[in-house]
Amino acid sequence: MAGNPKVLISGAGPVGLTLANELARHGISARIVDRSTARTDKSKALVMWSRTLELFDDAGYAKDFMSSGMPAHGAQISTGRQVVARVPFDLIDSRFAYALMIAQSETERVLEERLATAGVTVERDVELTSFVDKGVCVEAVLTKAGGQRETLEADWLVGCDGAHSTVRHGLGFAFEGSTLQSHWALADGHVTGLDPADHLHIFWHRDGILAFFPIVGDRWRVIANLGAAKDGETRPDPTLEEINALMARRGSPGIVMSDPVWLAAFRINERKVRDYSRGRVFLAGDAAHIHSPAGGQGMNTGMQDAFNLAWKLTLVIEGAATPSLLDSYSPERTAVGDRVLKNAGRLTEAAMLRNPLLQDLRNTIVRFAAGFPQVQHRMADQLGEMDIGYPDSPLTARNGQVDNGPKAGERWPYRLPDGAGGYRFTAVGPAGLVADLAAKFPRLVVAAPTRDPAHATALRLIRPDGYVGFAGAPKDVGRAEAYLAALASEA
Ligand SMILES: Cc1cc2nc3c(=O)[nH]c(=O)nc-3n(C[C@H](O)[C@H](O)[C@H](O)COP(=O)(O)OP(=O)(O)OC[C@H]3O[C@@H](n4cnc5c(N)ncnc54)[C@H](O)[C@@H]3O)c2cc1C
Repeated sequence: MAGNPKVLISGAGPVGLTLANELARHGISARIVDRSTARTDKSKALVMWSRTLELFDDAGYAKDFMSSGMPAHGAQISTGRQVVARVPFDLIDSRFAYALMIAQSETERVLEERLATAGVTVERDVELTSFVDKGVCVEAVLTKAGGQRETLEADWLVGCDGAHSTVRHGLGFAFEGSTLQSHWALADGHVTGLDPADHLHIFWHRDGILAFFPIVGDRWRVIANLGAAKDGETRPDPTLEEINALMARRGSPGIVMSDPVWLAAFRINERKVRDYSRGRVFLAGDAAHIHSPAGGQGMNTGMQDAFNLAWKLTLVIEGAATPSLLDSYSPERTAVGDRVLKNAGRLTEAAMLRNPLLQDLRNTIVRFAAGFPQVQHRMADQLGEMDIGYPDSPLTARNGQVDNGPKAGERWPYRLPDGAGGYRFTAVGPAGLVADLAAKFPRLVVAAPTRDPAHATALRLIRPDGYVGFAGAPKDVGRAEAYLAALASEA
């Protein structure tokens, strides 16, 4: 597509592709450019967690990922042959109570192919080189492979352009944080000797961590921390012999890798911007936050940034909501980013302990705590990103507890009714009330009368991304109207 789109997306990694798909689903014109010639062929982010799957399911395309991935049903932490803790993923409070293991190269393929069927092609070999927010639009300069330049105007620009984001640099936003003082190695290849094969396996050894993530068949990703690192120091990529030596030393006996397709050394950064937006420009995904792969939440968090932003942009572009709706994106997602960084940091610190006394203490505490089903449940929900909510968001209307169902700011645990919502709120409650709301705010709300008598005593407005915006009793309908009136565009 040439010309001026409503939204220009810089970067066609998993986050940019998710955003482009969502905007296409909502009928918004967008261009998506990527400076690379081709999609990644690396497995990078391997885990698609439950909450991300729910969001794709509400959007109607979770199933597209299923045939290219395989479910993992738990994580197991061991020291040698001894199991320290198990986290069963079937405890995750979701209709997707597992982790879908799928190589990032496949995730991107699925998303790009789906986007193409919606008539949007990723413009490759096209780099966003500069932009200016002119207040009424963003003027952006794209530079193509041969050096040819195009200047265009978009209503909104979203930087999904990864850890070295041009958009973030253009905004002058600091990427605050640090690089961990340790070297890491990864290997992707065929592994035998791990049981059960549908689990993530983490070995805590005196020397450090060794973690295995199933990919498909007998293909696994292995990650290990190596020695301490100095500022700016890098290491050569590991050899297969080095990886097998690490496995023999840190894992349980008999684990062997062959035929690696990817061997790499890497360092871990923990960084985040303070704000995810300014004016008509937004950041999402690694452009806004990067952290340790512990927990496997980087890509998931980025995709959820995209889901959060897509419906808000759509309602504003459609003229259905006031532009101030977009002001909620940054506070909502920075709070999530802070939490994800903190949790990943804690998991990484625990894995990297070197003092033998502290290691023993860690093992004892984790073995004890993980014996409690409630603790296992909490750990599983945290990994699956099921505990994310927006209690402090400006979009959350507090009316006290109305029934035993989800409160305002919490996740709506049910699938949104087919055809409902899309980019509009779903009003759930007594038939007459929700029909009235939908009639008064047709561009913001669709009605979903409650059939379940357990929910007939409450009135809720469910956001298009599956969080409760408003929860009240039927008598609070006036407040629900005020909530919607505050969002509605005066245009
Ligand atoms: C080894 C490894 C393992 C990982 N494991 C996990 C995991 O298990 N789970 C998880 O959730 N995450 C994991 N991650 C992190 C995950 O890969 C990233 O979080 C994810 O790729 C971020 O997606 P993104 O779309 O934000 O950015 P990227 O995937 O980095 O995509 C950014 C895109 O923007 C393009 N681009 C950059 N600048 C420009 C420009 N100026 N103009 C146009 N295009 C531009 C780039 O070419 C690129 O295609 C892992 C990462 C690595 C490296």
